[in-house]
Amino acid sequence: MRTLLLWLARSTWFRDRIPRLPFARRAVRRFMPGEDMEAALDAAARFRSEQIGVLFTRLGENVTRDEDADATLGHYVALLDACAARGLRAELSVKLTQLGLDLDEDRTFERVARLADRSARNAGVLWMDMEGSAYTDRTISLYERLVGAGHANLGVCLQAYLRRTAVDVQRLLPLRPAIRLVKGAYDEPPSIAFRTKRAVDANYAALAMAMLEACAAGQQVRIALGTHDVELVEQLAGHATALGLARDAFEVNMLYGIRLDQQRRLAREGYVVRDLLAYGPAWYAWYMRRLAERPVNVVFALRQVLP
Ligand SMILES: Cc1cc2nc3c(=O)[nH]c(=O)nc-3n(C[C@H](O)[C@H](O)[C@H](O)COP(=O)(O)OP(=O)(O)OC[C@H]3O[C@@H](n4cnc5c(N)ncnc54)[C@H](O)[C@@H]3O)c2cc1C
Repeated sequence: MRTLLLWLARSTWFRDRIPRLPFARRAVRRFMPGEDMEAALDAAARFRSEQIGVLFTRLGENVTRDEDADATLGHYVALLDACAARGLRAELSVKLTQLGLDLDEDRTFERVARLADRSARNAGVLWMDMEGSAYTDRTISLYERLVGAGHANLGVCLQAYLRRTAVDVQRLLPLRPAIRLVKGAYDEPPSIAFRTKRAVDANYAALAMAMLEACAAGQQVRIALGTHDVELVEQLAGHATALGLARDAFEVNMLYGIRLDQQRRLAREGYVVRDLLAYGPAWYAWYMRRLAERPVNVVFALRQVLP
């Protein structure tokens, strides 16, 4: 089922048709507050009263025209302006292929640099999502280039299902990085990725521990645990305490609509929690990946067929 859903996520034929179906539009609302910026900003305001921070991402990937990459940049600048006007301290998480990585690396560099500078004015980190493995090297290289050029307020996502990630963590640690560790959402072959949940979870724990130990040894690293796996988070919180680290030595990031009760509980217990709010009309591939993570969600989606 996971493989089928991830295949559907890549299919342009289905991408052009499924979003037009009313039941699909109803089902996706479980994972996103709406398609426009206002809906996302309103949702963020509701989280503020619960001490839950937010990250925004405007859905879309693999743009094929420079104008679309520029439009993404323009949209994000307007969003940061709107956050400043509303007194919201939100951060952004962006996909490099939505900012033109398939077209031209230097122009992508410029766009990310502009967004990082604009994010710094709102005192925020600009996070770079990690896409499929065809982009891992380029994403990490671009991150290194940008930090080297003085854009210190940048964060990057790393995926625990990739066998290479332990090396990538060690490679990035000297840069005083911000790293969001996730399990990984794409369909990767066994030659480069762990394929069982047990192996991915074990690697996730080992990678997070390595970062916590670096932190305890005085290394500057902002650690974001991007997972809904609360048991894993609690296990890592125990390790952090044993290392003498405070509760805010790491943060927990979850997606909008998933385990909100746990997001609230962790925030009440004093953990730094951020909810990633995805919005926008281009939700198809992203939504299919959410279904693939928990195929029982398909049942929920199909229930929307009923009036
Ligand atoms: C903030 C954030 C940013 C992310 N950014 C990226 C990125 O840049 N690149 C990338 O490849 N992946 C990204 N992901 C997705 C990630 O790789 C996983 O695919 C996703 O988080 C599911 O794995 P899990 O860690 O929640 O653990 P799992 O072991 O899959 O799930 C743990 C528990 O969480 C709940 N759960 C998990 N997923 C769902 C769901 N879809 N619906 C309902 N319940 C669910 C279930 O109760 C499940 O038992 C991101 C995830 C988060 C939270």
